Amino acid sequence: MEAPIGISFIESENQKMIAKMIQDFGEKEMVPNRMEWDESQHFPLDLFKKLGHLGLMGVLVPEEYGGAGFGYHEYVTAIVELSKIDGSIGLSMAAHNSLCTGHILQFANESQKQQYLPKLATGEYLGAWGLTEPNTGSDAGNMRTVAEKKGDYFILNGAKNFITHGKSGDVAVVIARTGEVGDSHGMSAFIVERGTPGFSAGKKENKLGMRASETAEMVFTDCKIHKSQLIGNEGEGFVQSLKVLDGGRISIASLSLGIAEGAYLAALKYSKERHQFNQPIANFQGISFKLAEMATKVEAAKLLTYRAADLKNRGMSVNRESAMAKLYASEIAVEVANDGVQIFGGYGYTKDFPAEKYYRDAKLCTIGEGTSEIQKLVISRSILK
Ligand SMILES: Cc1cc2nc3c(=O)[nH]c(=O)nc-3n(C[C@H](O)[C@H](O)[C@H](O)COP(=O)(O)OP(=O)(O)OC[C@H]3O[C@@H](n4cnc5c(N)ncnc54)[C@H](O)[C@@H]3O)c2cc1C
Repeated sequence: MEAPIGISFIESENQKMIAKMIQDFGEKEMVPNRMEWDESQHFPLDLFKKLGHLGLMGVLVPEEYGGAGFGYHEYVTAIVELSKIDGSIGLSMAAHNSLCTGHILQFANESQKQQYLPKLATGEYLGAWGLTEPNTGSDAGNMRTVAEKKGDYFILNGAKNFITHGKSGDVAVVIARTGEVGDSHGMSAFIVERGTPGFSAGKKENKLGMRASETAEMVFTDCKIHKSQLIGNEGEGFVQSLKVLDGGRISIASLSLGIAEGAYLAALKYSKERHQFNQPIANFQGISFKLAEMATKVEAAKLLTYRAADLKNRGMSVNRESAMAKLYASEIAVEVANDGVQIFGGYGYTKDFPAEKYYRDAKLCTIGEGTSEIQKLVISRSILK
């Protein structure tokens, strides 16, 4: 394994500035609304326009395309800070930046970049990314949505499900089969705009957590896409997607880290305020040891996540490192959020405190963008080769 030469875990001025900006923004725009959004499964589209004004919808997009032009350290900080306040917002922001925008940024041609990146990076457009299908999630390479070539067009037929912004997304990157089933070079990626005839939204999911992040089906019925909307060459879509997911996993590790840190800080505060047996519950070793374990897990997840971010900034392969960060951070997010509910006692089981929401939101992190089992496949393949 490469030595982590020269990695600095000291926050840069930019990271500090981003964290403070999000804390101030979140206090005003997110904290007062997050439980209402969660209860009603309201997707706050307007909020993402505001995040666009703050530069958070194109964090990694170069300034020449209207983005903030930051690197992965700043990107991790932004997702962590949003997710400390509301995991749903962190998830949607991460999916927009890493998946749809990230795919176009990494693999689209210059004309496609000029056309879409400025709108995505400023929040004028919300992005979606469709790989998963009803019958193919972990086994995405076995997808059935087809793109049949007819002259200058591709005709898309099929459905993508569990898509973040499947309904509200203005533009989607969609991976569809252009070759044989079982051929990893038999799939291609297309940019599809909302409003294209034959492209519609299907069912919106009713979820355990991340309820303010929209998850919906995208349906394609004889949807005619001009060949100029193909990203890269025909047959490159699946391989492109795996590379997009390598970076995307840093986002989900950051999302997990933010949720874990939020759950830990809420429990820490409560443990000093709540009295039982005439003293703060933090005085009991059973509680303080739990807090010690939570803090240690958060710190370890932070190191793995920033290590993956650092390698990514240097243009190095992060296949194994992003899978390790995602696996560990998501699993400890569930554990830390669980301990958080326990420290809050009966109040942790109510909607009056944030502990139960962290607990529900955390679980998505072990599933989305590759389950924990799939991360272990990626890691074991890498260490056994
Ligand atoms: C809120 C949310 C948002 C999402 N957003 C998007 C999005 O924007 N775009 C998108 O394309 N997708 C999205 N997804 C889909 C997500 O990536 C998939 O749900 C995930 O990859 C798992 O696929 P699956 O649900 O089909 O589970 P399955 O693949 O059916 O897995 C079921 C179980 O089997 C296990 N399993 C499967 N294969 C193996 C194996 N080889 N070895 C061991 N265990 C295995 C899995 O780990 C899991 O425990 C989203 C999902 C959710 C819930």
